[in-house]
Parts: sequence; C-alpha cells; structure tokens
Amino acid sequence: MATIIDGKAISMQIKDECKEKVAKLKSEGKSVALAVIQVGEDPASSVYVNNKKKACEYIGAESLSYHLPEETSEEELLELIDKLNKDEKVNGILVQLPVPKHINEDLIIRSIDPDKDVDGFHPINVGRLSIGEKGFVSCTPAGIIELLKRSGVEIAGKECVVIGRSNIVGKPMSMLMLRENATVTICHSRTKDLKEVTKRADILIVAIGKPKMIDASYVKEGAVVIDVGIHRPDPDSKKLCGDVDYDSVEPVASLITPVPGGVGPMTIAMLMSNLVNG
Ligand code: NAP
Repeated sequence: MATIIDGKAISMQIKDECKEKVAKLKSEGKSVALAVIQVGEDPASSVYVNNKKKACEYIGAESLSYHLPEETSEEELLELIDKLNKDEKVNGILVQLPVPKHINEDLIIRSIDPDKDVDGFHPINVGRLSIGEKGFVSCTPAGIIELLKRSGVEIAGKECVVIGRSNIVGKPMSMLMLRENATVTICHSRTKDLKEVTKRADILIVAIGKPKMIDASYVKEGAVVIDVGIHRPDPDSKKLCGDVDYDSVEPVASLITPVPGGVGPMTIAMLMSNLVNG
C-alpha cells in the first residue's frame, strides 16, 4: 500500500510560509501585489482567477484585478501589460490563459517583464531554468519538487521518467529533476515501448492528459508516482481523475499523489511562493 502525498496539506504549509513572509515584508514597509488579467468570459478561467485572488487575500498580498471584455484588442492588452511592467507597486503579472483567438498568446507572454513573470512562462525564465540561473519557474512542476522534498523523497541519483513534454509541465519538470541531480528520461507520444521505459522509473511523473492511462503495468514496484493530470471523466459527475489509474497503481507504488488533492493545489501555492520570493 502506498503512502498518499497530501498536496492539500503541503500547499497550505507553503501558503502559510508565504503569509509569514508577506507580514515580514509589510513590517519593513514593503507591499506585495499581483496583477491578474483575464480577457473574456471563459468560465474555467473565471474559477482559476477567483482562486488566485483568494490565495492572495489569504497570504495578505494585494491582488489587482483586470477583467477585460472578449473584444479587447491585442494592442490594448499590450498597453495594459506595459503599464503594469512600469508600475513599481506591482510585483507579479499574470495573464490568465487561454486568451481569445485574435490575441497572440506568445506575444503576450513575451511582453511581461521577466522579473514580474510569476507564471514562469517567459522565454527568458525558461532559459534561466535551463542554464541553472535563478528565475521564475512554472508553478506546477515547481510544486511537484516541493511535494517530493517535503515528503522526504530523495531525488539525487534516482531514475526519473517524465511522461509529457509540454512547455508548462513536462519540459520544465524534466529540467527541475535534472537540477535536483536525478537521471531523467522524457517520454512523449513518439516514445517506443513506453512501458519498458516507465518501468525503470524510481520516480514516475505523469503529464499526458489522458484519463487513467497509466496503470500498474507501467510502474515498477516501490516507485514514487506523481499524477499531474486532471480530468472530469463524466460531465455529470463531480468526481475527478488523473492520468494515472489510481486504484491499479496505488498497491504497487511506495508513494502516490491522489487526484484531487495531490498536484492540483500546489500550482496556486507555488504562484504565491513565486510572488513573494521572486
Ligand atoms: P499537453 O500539452 O497535452 O501534453 C501532453 C504530453 O503528453 C505531450 O508531450 C504528448 O506528447 C504526451 N503524450 C500524449 N499521449 C501520449 C502517449 N500515448 N504516450 C506518451 N506520451 C503521450 O498537456 P499538459 O498541459 O502538459 O498537461 C498534462 C496533464 O496535466 C493534463 O491532464 C492537464 O489537465 C494537467 N495539468 C494539471 C495542472 C495542475 O495544476 N495540476 C497544470 C497543468 C496541467 P507529444 O508532445 O508527442 O504530443
């Protein structure tokens, strides 16, 4: 039976540390503010934005909210970002993705001052990560490192397999595990004999975006299994599942993250950590 990695509890620890840091900064006369920009009315984005504002409130940081109409032009959005880049009171800027189709997402990401890019998506921050320089790191993979470390998982020297090579999860995850001195293998849709590779993993990190695809036949006995996926398999049900078939893998793994309550809560906690420590 695996030990469950409690992402909810660990994310609370991190938010409480951020709260303490904000109080300390305030006592030194410094403020902490996150600018959150949403364009349009995507309901999922509204939920995410709301959760980010609530997290700011919890840690005592200010959140400056900019909810722009769907028809906002790229130029108008760039002007707002430019204004926020120059505003000394703003420590972090976040544009909730996706933006409407008439706006170039890459251009928007690149227009944010890299030193205020709390999402860690700007190519300068991606480059800093790959050459081992300090910079903002994408929140979900940064959260996974915290989950591992705070659960007492030794990373150095371990075989780590990451399934997925997206810019926001798989690639930065692999760079972070490398930085922690794991031996890292990255798998993707063209990987031949996925099982043969994943069965070598001491630490298996799954970010495929396919509900319950990874069952026990992909997992070495005693592996640590981190499930990044979030899916609602049945639109009528409130139950969520991950990319890992939890019931199948849990008896084989030594530690495992559940869905929900594993990786999910870490993303916002690390956003707060980026805001406060960046
Ligand atoms: P993504 O952009 O769709 O990337 C999926 C990756 O999986 C791609 O690299 C793809 O390979 C690879 N892949 C797909 N099918 C495969 C297969 N059969 N065998 C091996 N590799 C395969 O997804 P993402 O944005 O990284 O997100 C992954 C999952 O994490 C999703 O479920 C998402 O909802 C979830 N997520 C959760 C959080 C959180 O806060 N917990 C944050 C972000 C994402 P190719 O590159 O070859 O296409």
